[in-house]
Amino acid sequence: MAVSLMNKHLSSSNSSVPAGVVTGADYRTLLEACRAGGYALPAVNVTSSSMVNAVLEAASQSHSDVIIQVSHSGARFYGGNGLENTHNAAVFGALSMAHHVHLLAQSYGVAVVLHTDHANRPLIPWLDDLITHSARHHERTGRPLFSSHMLDLSAEPLDANIDTCADMLKRLAPLDIGLEIELGITGGEEDGIGHEFDEDSTENSHLYTQPEDVLKAWQRLNPLGMLSIAASFGNVHGVYKPGNVKLHPEILKDSQELVQKTAKTDHNPLHLVFHGGSGSEIDKIRQAISYGVFKMNLDTDTQFAYAHKVAAFIMEHQEAFEHQICPKTGKPFKKIYDPRAWLRKGELGVAERVKESFEILGSHGKSIAR
Ligand SMILES: [Zn+2]
Repeated sequence: MAVSLMNKHLSSSNSSVPAGVVTGADYRTLLEACRAGGYALPAVNVTSSSMVNAVLEAASQSHSDVIIQVSHSGARFYGGNGLENTHNAAVFGALSMAHHVHLLAQSYGVAVVLHTDHANRPLIPWLDDLITHSARHHERTGRPLFSSHMLDLSAEPLDANIDTCADMLKRLAPLDIGLEIELGITGGEEDGIGHEFDEDSTENSHLYTQPEDVLKAWQRLNPLGMLSIAASFGNVHGVYKPGNVKLHPEILKDSQELVQKTAKTDHNPLHLVFHGGSGSEIDKIRQAISYGVFKMNLDTDTQFAYAHKVAAFIMEHQEAFEHQICPKTGKPFKKIYDPRAWLRKGELGVAERVKESFEILGSHGKSIAR
């Protein structure tokens, strides 16, 4: 009870949504709360139920809403890398993750956006199957399984990108599912979807989106459904040595202003997404949020947080990971090598990193879930 009172008090928005997975109108309400409150939500990539629970735990403790997303290969892992039919593993892995979150999110008392990460053209059949399953779920419950999907055709010519995204959004809109698109390309590599990025050059000009392209995409796609845009402003997937990537968030500001002026909208009409933000300076992140970024992807840093804590535990108890019983004392090591002991350390590491993200993005204490 104290928690929900606190949420009400701290929330900068008057509107609220039920705790649990938010889709359709509730998803829009959450986007508006982010815009009105000038904050963003981390979108954490998950690859197991352990990761999901760590993210939900962090969100609950920080009273922040959160975005949980899975990539194609993350979904494949969730479904089981031992499954020979990799397409089925990625489809049912994503569905398994979605159902896991639908079953548990409400108990954590926050709003959760469910999303799928980068899908390029060869991965459209993956989305096709997820949409089919969402349609069935929608028939039964009146709601889709996922809040939104991403279609990343940024490597293709702009018109081909926009045309295919328009077709996709026409299919998603009746099911109350949003679409995230990418304009301009995020450098670096993530899950096999990578783009040319010269680590030793400051001349990565293809990493910057043109505001005119954003306007063109928005005019065509925004009337069709719930649209969010990942625009590139020098961001790069992964962590590289500092100094060779220059973030230019003013590209986001210029894009917002061009759309606002041309279409005579309110302030910050675009819902923007920040990919490849690992290692970014905090003031650049906050600047990007002030220009309408509501979602910041978080993957590399949480992967490291998980691995780092597990590694520390294993190094501290090395013998227990080599022998079932202590060779010197005869004491059983079961309590130490039990996966619940060391996976839990990883979960706590992830939760800590995600909580840090809530602070940086300004969403701490601002859950609009009731
Ligand atoms: Zn990305």
